[in-house]
Amino acid sequence: MESLRVNSLNHILANLKQYTTCTFNLFFLQEKSQILGKQCVCHNGCCVQEYPCVSVVNLGPSNAGYNESEDIDERKENVRIAVAVGAKQLREVGVTSIDVDSCGDAEAAAEGTTLGLWSYDELKKKSSQKPKIAVNLLDSSELSMKGWQTGVIKGNGQNLARRLMETPANLMTPTKFAEVAKSVLKVATVTVRDKAWAEAQKMGSYLSVTQGTDEPPCFLEISYMTGRPEDKPVVLVGKGITFDSGGICLKPSSGMDKMRADMGGAACTLSTIYTLEQLGVPANVIGLIPLTENLINGKATKPGDVVVAMNGKSIQIDNTDAEGRLVLADALCYAHTLNPQAILDMATLTGAMMVALGSGAAGVYTSSNHIWSLLQKSGGVTGDRVWRMPLWNHYSRQVGDSQLADLNNIGKYGREGGCCTAAAFLREFVTTSEWAHIDIAGVMEAKDEVAYLPKGMAGIDVELFDVLTREISGQLGVQ
Ligand SMILES: [Zn+2]
Repeated sequence: MESLRVNSLNHILANLKQYTTCTFNLFFLQEKSQILGKQCVCHNGCCVQEYPCVSVVNLGPSNAGYNESEDIDERKENVRIAVAVGAKQLREVGVTSIDVDSCGDAEAAAEGTTLGLWSYDELKKKSSQKPKIAVNLLDSSELSMKGWQTGVIKGNGQNLARRLMETPANLMTPTKFAEVAKSVLKVATVTVRDKAWAEAQKMGSYLSVTQGTDEPPCFLEISYMTGRPEDKPVVLVGKGITFDSGGICLKPSSGMDKMRADMGGAACTLSTIYTLEQLGVPANVIGLIPLTENLINGKATKPGDVVVAMNGKSIQIDNTDAEGRLVLADALCYAHTLNPQAILDMATLTGAMMVALGSGAAGVYTSSNHIWSLLQKSGGVTGDRVWRMPLWNHYSRQVGDSQLADLNNIGKYGREGGCCTAAAFLREFVTTSEWAHIDIAGVMEAKDEVAYLPKGMAGIDVELFDVLTREISGQLGVQ
């Protein structure tokens, strides 16, 4: 087995000067290329004697820091990017073991490698699967090791969300998702609620979606209560549509396969709690995950049907593809019964969000300046940026104008401001001021724009929510 090393250009050059065999390539990179993530690979021990192959990557400007106009901590982000590029390059040339330089931030370096080397290929034949790479930290100081381990746990947490989202819908039904939750969580308790429970709760909105599929619904309640008993829980609510056909308002077939990831909010909710558990963070967090498919059997909801949610509000369902808000409505009502300190819901809710912000940021709707500032700060540090969207009565009026019921599940002007009317609809089921809705539809899938997130489902926001939950729980400052 070869032993290999990834290093940052800025760091390695100091070491390289002592090796007379050092090649031109390294200095070419330093002098001619200032492109972040630009890398080269040296073979046959040309650079550092103990390693037969070294990947040298440009780490960007040495004075990188928090960039206000970009809303991101570029020092951390550059480390994630550079290390991911180097690690992937070494895998390309067939190495099986990599030692990674911390580049001054072991946690970010660990995130970059753990996320960058991950791939979903378990359903392919062995020879087509990417090789498993052993990755270690080069610097073994206690502080670096601690940061490294934290970064690996966070990366693995996000990779869990990516795996859940990528898994085909026939292999990730509501029942299967519940089984995964039970198998990965060791400290948190997972309660699986069935259809009869939802009926007893009068969750007519959630049940209207579940009635269209033969798969039994599961409403998960995950309790991670390791904080102080007197602290109220933070309640996370994740949309869990394990496949969204659109129902009778059928989606176009092109790209419909991606709707296996319409449980991205559910995946991130589970992964956030999994990450908190793995890190041993003391916090009180409850995850609510309403799971179902949105399909078309003989009992499926018809456009114009009216159902009644848990809080007694009637809803005219004019678009069966706007089902996410229907399952979230009852989950949000139920969240209020748990004496929450704050409620955060995350959902791949609207195509309109994707149109508005693309993959650049998740959209946040909240009336709480406090939660918004925490989200913005956490997003800048973790690289999962967010952008505040309007939660105004202007949009509430558009969903409150229904011919048959109290509310309509789509805005009266159709697609216009669709992500805003969706958020306004959700607000009808919220009474606490400490609530935020995060629409992650646009960031659901990575498109090769970020080096440490190869093309595929992104599982984004896990680290964001990990940091945020801790911040709200008052356990730790943003790190
Ligand atoms: Zn839908």
